[in-house]
Amino acid sequence: MNVVIAVDGPSGSGKSTVSKAVARKLGLGYLDTGAMYRAAAWWAHHCGIDLDDHEAVTAAVAKMNLRMPLDPDAQNITVAGTDITAAIRTSELSRVVSKVAVNLDVRAILVARQQAIIRSAGRIIAEGRDITTVVAPDADVRVLLTASEKTRLERRALENQGTKDSAALAATRAEVTERDAKDATVTNFTTAADGVVTIDSSRLSIEQTRDAIIDLVPEEMR
Ligand code: C5P
Repeated sequence: MNVVIAVDGPSGSGKSTVSKAVARKLGLGYLDTGAMYRAAAWWAHHCGIDLDDHEAVTAAVAKMNLRMPLDPDAQNITVAGTDITAAIRTSELSRVVSKVAVNLDVRAILVARQQAIIRSAGRIIAEGRDITTVVAPDADVRVLLTASEKTRLERRALENQGTKDSAALAATRAEVTERDAKDATVTNFTTAADGVVTIDSSRLSIEQTRDAIIDLVPEEMR
């Protein structure tokens, strides 16, 4: 039976880790929409385009040959045949991705692609910033995953720097807090829209958060 699960949340809320865990447990496809914005930024830069050049970036993204894998355990992303899996996770790219994400014409292109992917997958969990509100407002389950700012900073610092000492936290702040502030100008991932369930993962393990989402899925769809 088809099931669509939509998960939004700020950076460091655990969206990717938890969504992949749900996908494994329920045998769903997994769509990382953030990776699509990262790919768009990578591609525009690769084409020699200034990321502030709205029209040129839009034209490049419209032609971007992006392959998005849906297997939660095989997330190799390619653009025009080049594997960009590692390139889109650098802190340089994280710092500039919002420039592309605030471009509303780019958003329209990527949202349409995301909707097509979700439609053809049938059973899928998609995560990002606007999945519950714009991409899949009719999803069977809609979740806003949050966590305290302290928790989110610590998680990202551990992930990126291997430690959560004060230097690592300071270095991570720009990537987490400032990026979220820029993103929040075009998407609402801080308050739950009508019908969206908020789950605060600050004090939950990955498994507990995964199970809290699965509990929202009607039995017959699991
Ligand atoms: O989730 P992740 O940190 O990989 O997302 C990267 C960037 O992509 C975000 O900072 C945001 O600018 C953009 N994004 C978005 N809408 C989504 C998913 C991600 O604007 N649905």
